[in-house]
Amino acid sequence: MQTHFTDTQLQDPQIREADGILRKCVHCGFCTATCPTFVMTGDERDSPRGRIWMMRELLESPDSVSADTGYHLDRCLGCLACTTTCPSGVDYHHLIEIGRERIDGLVTRPFGDRMMRRLLASVIPYAGRFRMMMRLGRLGALFAPVMPANMRAALAKLPKKLPAFDRVGSKTMHFKPRIKGTRRVILLAGCAQRALDPAINASTIRVLNRLGVEVTVRQEASCCGALAHHIGEQQAAHRTVRDTLLAWQEELDRGDVDAIIANASGCGTMIKDYAHMVGDDPELAAIAERVSGLARDITEILAELPLETVIDPAPEGRGQITYHSACSLQHGQKIHDLPMQLLREAGFEVRQPLEPHLCCGSAGVYNILQPEMADGLRKRKLENIEKAGALMVAAGNIGCIQQLDGDIPVRHTIQYIDWASGGPPPVQD
Ligand code: SF4
Ligand code: SF4
Repeated sequence: MQTHFTDTQLQDPQIREADGILRKCVHCGFCTATCPTFVMTGDERDSPRGRIWMMRELLESPDSVSADTGYHLDRCLGCLACTTTCPSGVDYHHLIEIGRERIDGLVTRPFGDRMMRRLLASVIPYAGRFRMMMRLGRLGALFAPVMPANMRAALAKLPKKLPAFDRVGSKTMHFKPRIKGTRRVILLAGCAQRALDPAINASTIRVLNRLGVEVTVRQEASCCGALAHHIGEQQAAHRTVRDTLLAWQEELDRGDVDAIIANASGCGTMIKDYAHMVGDDPELAAIAERVSGLARDITEILAELPLETVIDPAPEGRGQITYHSACSLQHGQKIHDLPMQLLREAGFEVRQPLEPHLCCGSAGVYNILQPEMADGLRKRKLENIEKAGALMVAAGNIGCIQQLDGDIPVRHTIQYIDWASGGPPPVQD
């Protein structure tokens, strides 16, 4: 794609980066076929190609940008399916980040939307506050019929039963294996996941300990910053990223850390991108580089360990399971087959739903900010899961789990592996 930035505009490092990305797009449109929003609406402005065009206009001529551009950029899920499909290697991930940051200063969103974004950025990254909101939300549900759509969507996402508060992450802790192993990892305890489903961290620690891996959780590293980053609350995101990086720096300086583990793939994608995100911050650049280099999804570290040695034999197999591939894992981190391979090693017969590349509509807090589109995608995904026929679903991201859990239970991949290696069943009768 041709661009026409002036020399003055190209002095700006962000514009220079965007220019390099834009020039790679040959406008072939292959990406449109796998873009969930285009699949749902058929509108070119809801496709990667259309959005790339709009972002070029927005960056070249910011004065002429319309509210329409903001609307269609906001409807992008950030699922990155387009990056998997694109034959030209267009880095849509970083282009949309630049586009979103720029549009924030040019277009004013409706009042309710701005307030909701503030609220989400000030509550969800803090497990304690989030838990408090879940309590209050259950009372607030009584008033749902008179609330705006995004409030109703937020309330609908709250779990019916409040889980017990998780101690993992409430202070710095070291979980040592019974038999001393040779590996040590840092685990991100997480914010929303910790409040919504503490069983995921418990399973992660049990499985790693069984495999002889010591697990360290730092209290100060409580959130990866993705949520605030993706909804345009950049100052809040930077504060969170800084706290997390500095806490991990202390731990890395103690030595012997083999990897930094995320068991929510949205967080993993973010941590792997820290080096890019704060690469021009002199205080954080070096530690961000180190952390991004050590970041692994839980399935990646399991693939390096002798999993077969801890799996209980199941000659009859453990049943059929449908694997839902979270976008942040399959498109953000390009990990798609590995979780299925591990589930097979654990004795499950693994199926995939139709359209495995399409987002379920969760996408962080997209399902709260864009409830209509998110709900359409959720229904489509659930229909495909039902057609796959298995009675259990595995996924590697808490957002997808919350979005899809229902008549067919959805649990984290690590919970099934924990079960197969002596842990509790993830689905209780
Ligand atoms: S597939 Fe890649 S090169 Fe083709 S239109 Fe989409 S982003 Fe551009
Ligand atoms: S990130 Fe997802 S929703 Fe956004 S343009 Fe790419 S494929 Fe479409």
